[in-house]
Amino acid sequence: MLVVKKFGGTSVADKDRIYNVARRCIEEYKKGNQVVVVLSAMGKQTDVLISMAKEITPNPPKREMDMLFTTGEQTSVALAAMAITELGVPAVSLNAFQVPMNTTAVYGNARLKRIDTERIRYELSNNKIVLVTGFQGINQYNDYTTLGRGGSDTTAVALAAALHADECEIYTDVDGVFTADPRIVKNARKMDEITYDEMLELASFGAGVLHNRSVEMAKKYGVQLVVRSSLNENEGTIVKEDVKMEKMLVSGVACDKNVTQIAVLGLKDKPGVAFKLFQHLANHNVNVDMILQSVGRDGTKDISFTVTEDMTDTAIDTIKRHEGKSLEYQELNVTRDVAKVSIVGAGMMSNPGVAAKMFEAIYDANINIMQISTSEIRVTVLIDEKYSERALISVHDAFGLAG
Ligand code: ADP
Ligand code: ASP
Ligand code: MG
Repeated sequence: MLVVKKFGGTSVADKDRIYNVARRCIEEYKKGNQVVVVLSAMGKQTDVLISMAKEITPNPPKREMDMLFTTGEQTSVALAAMAITELGVPAVSLNAFQVPMNTTAVYGNARLKRIDTERIRYELSNNKIVLVTGFQGINQYNDYTTLGRGGSDTTAVALAAALHADECEIYTDVDGVFTADPRIVKNARKMDEITYDEMLELASFGAGVLHNRSVEMAKKYGVQLVVRSSLNENEGTIVKEDVKMEKMLVSGVACDKNVTQIAVLGLKDKPGVAFKLFQHLANHNVNVDMILQSVGRDGTKDISFTVTEDMTDTAIDTIKRHEGKSLEYQELNVTRDVAKVSIVGAGMMSNPGVAAKMFEAIYDANINIMQISTSEIRVTVLIDEKYSERALISVHDAFGLAG
């Protein structure tokens, strides 16, 4: 059997944790399995690297950031390979160049395109445990790229798909996927299983336990995932296509604070206005979400939308640059301290009243809703960030999700 195991930052935070990872990998190896291990940077090392860069300049070039980031994962795999070797099992560490793992060109947010498996297979055939750097790739200019924060999960799933692995285990610092972030909602319940679609919505709307692209890729290639703790033997959560029908209308709730609301007020109410606004933003790689357009009145209308915090300044600059030219508006309102709170569940598709129940829970917590968006299996509200935890707990309770 070929097994891919991914360990996150907390799981490799220090010498003891690295030896813990080494032992878990050796245990798998001793069962006669081939073991490929993907590691994140140690502890909060990626944040440390960001701080180091910010000391040099407030706007580090994205290419150089990726060059810097890759040192984090490289440190982990080298140290873990040493630990495994020290425990008497042959091991080798590989970075994105050595595999190689090819991505698109975009620094800081690249997508994996192709993974060569020849080198990994060669090392496995020599009975080695193979450790691969998570989060990084190389682009067509032979530069390092990274896959976005939390991207090591995606490296692991991509490797599992490319190697046709029999298992892909994501080891982290909690026991699995919970009905809400267990650090915020203390009575959140661990799920035994969850569908790719529900997990994708949760991950895309703030449940940082899995990188959303990793779930997208797992669904696309049919890679079944197990999310579990590196610190105990508990069973974890299986992420797969179909799960046994649960009575629950809602599987989980999530909160995303990495959001800014931008409202463009007093736009001319004529054809092409939304097109031009969002075309300009797209040209500057600004992803928008939760778009809301008001009913036109007295020849004008308002459009508001959300962007991630790091894209806020680009979005504002882009809109201002076109003011009075291709975009005519009266006012630009930017609200940075907002958060999205979402409920996700396949059960809501066939059950009316789920959204109303969520709004009631938000009302019971005495919180005002600024904007609403939905998908088939998700309802999201935008609220003042300072109430986000209260909202999360209230909604979690209202749907009876507590364990
Ligand atoms: P790793 O370094 O292992 O990748 P992350 O910090 O990226 O770990 O992800 C694990 C964290 O995700 C947990 O510590 C938890 O606080 C958070 N989290 C958010 N939502 C959920 C959820 N629904 N279930 C479990 N963990 C969650
Ligand atoms: N080290 C990277 C991060 O902190 C990637 C990861 O951990 O998945 O975002
Ligand atoms: Mg992570």
